[in-house]
Amino acid sequence: MKLKTVRLPKSRRHQPMSARFAHNGHLNLSRLPHRLLIDGEWRDSVSGSTFETLNPATGETLARVAEGDREDINRAVAAARRAFERGPWRRLTPSERGRLLWKLADLLEEHTDQFAEIESLDNGKPRAVACVADVPLAVDLFRYMAGWATKIEGNTIPISVSGADFFAYTRREPVGVVGQIIPWNFPLLMAAWKLGPALATGCTVVLKPAEQTPLSALRLGELILKAGFPPGVVNIVTGYGETAGAALAQHPDVDKVAFTGSTEVGKLIARAATGNLKKVSLELGGKSPNIVLEDADTDTAIAGAANAVFFNHGQCCCAGSRLYVHKKKFDQVVDGVAAAAKKIKLGPGLSADTEMGPLVSEEQLERVMNYLDLGSREGARAIAGGHRKGNRGYFVEPTVLVNAKPGMKVMEEEIFGPVVCAIPFTDVEEVIPAANKNIYGLAAAVWTRDISKAHRIAHELKAGTVWINCYNVFDAALPFGGYKQSGWGREMGHDVLEMYTETKAVCARL
Ligand code: ADP
Repeated sequence: MKLKTVRLPKSRRHQPMSARFAHNGHLNLSRLPHRLLIDGEWRDSVSGSTFETLNPATGETLARVAEGDREDINRAVAAARRAFERGPWRRLTPSERGRLLWKLADLLEEHTDQFAEIESLDNGKPRAVACVADVPLAVDLFRYMAGWATKIEGNTIPISVSGADFFAYTRREPVGVVGQIIPWNFPLLMAAWKLGPALATGCTVVLKPAEQTPLSALRLGELILKAGFPPGVVNIVTGYGETAGAALAQHPDVDKVAFTGSTEVGKLIARAATGNLKKVSLELGGKSPNIVLEDADTDTAIAGAANAVFFNHGQCCCAGSRLYVHKKKFDQVVDGVAAAAKKIKLGPGLSADTEMGPLVSEEQLERVMNYLDLGSREGARAIAGGHRKGNRGYFVEPTVLVNAKPGMKVMEEEIFGPVVCAIPFTDVEEVIPAANKNIYGLAAAVWTRDISKAHRIAHELKAGTVWINCYNVFDAALPFGGYKQSGWGREMGHDVLEMYTETKAVCARL
């Protein structure tokens, strides 16, 4: 996942899309699904309302999709409950569940170009990046989880109660009906992170995509039906967070809610879940420290620091947005990151030479511009970027801020845009507490040639992921999630399966 122009493999560049979607070489958006997927059928919302999703490169309407609300959530949850309790899904063997997931992965892979184009149009990211990152990572996640379906095991347990013999064992059972609420920064990949473990463990799902980017989840819904998942196993309700999302988080017949998004909304979800004490997993914000030691390879650290914060336009919960550089290397590294920032080519995601697209929405543009304004009023100085680019679409220049001090809002709060604060430090003992002094603890990185020091620092950082001499390396097998206010639980890896299963102890007197 490197931040540079990604050329499509030759075989992909001219590959025709399926006839259904071919339209002057581009997607025919009117042919994409735009209704709610409930109980295996595409339905209008009960209210009949729709909302528009915009192209962030132009601000123009891309499509209108059904606006689901509480009543649609009720219907979707009822369908998921029926599918969980009575449907054929319950009777499928683990191997059959695994095969369905594998089939879904194959179908998704076959449609890589389509999904990359949908993501690019709806979210703004370069199509080429979606083609080599978002879509293949989603495919891989489904395959990884397909493998787990047959390996979710309990234990036999020795019992010490005297006077009788017992045989005791544990079973790992699916938690039940799961509500999943996802953000707009990696719309397809976040759907995969959520659906993969739920389906591997045998749960049923109501998925609520972000209102800014509903299109790829709906298209994925078509592939889910095509793969052969029984009706009601996956239901997709598009709509707004305050209405559809809140109804899902509160719903008394949902057994677990899994959320990825802002810490602010994560707290609302946790509160909403208390009604029936549904299980909760939260993958939330971050303000991740990226630490360059004196002995780091300078060029690698510069490229890595630029990738850490500018990948996906900085709209990553794990963005390396606090760059701590040893004072002896500070000017060299920070000037290098600034030079890299200035070279990044901004443009619409569908243009072949675009390296960074627009932010996802006008709201996000305003949020980032407010932080830039606040930063300069607080005394930070932009040595690259610092401005909006153009006045059409939601483009922001990749920005490097210096003179940022602890306590400033740009140093403490998640900006969720292409903005990094660079801070010099003098020794490791000073930088570790500084790095840890934040409400978040999602990710961190350290750049050094001293591998012992790297591991020692990794152990001391309060973060769910620590990268050493790399950044933004994601793998379906690597658990991802946060310390502190970055969340509860882990996504991916085998850790995530814990979040989707209940342990049942069975104890028999012999
Ligand atoms: P961001 O601030 O990055 O837009 P949010 O945390 O607001 O991210 O949104 C992430 C997801 O949470 C989206 O699907 C959104 O619709 C949903 N959401 C927003 N507010 C609520 C809420 N009050 N209850 C449930 N879901 C919500």
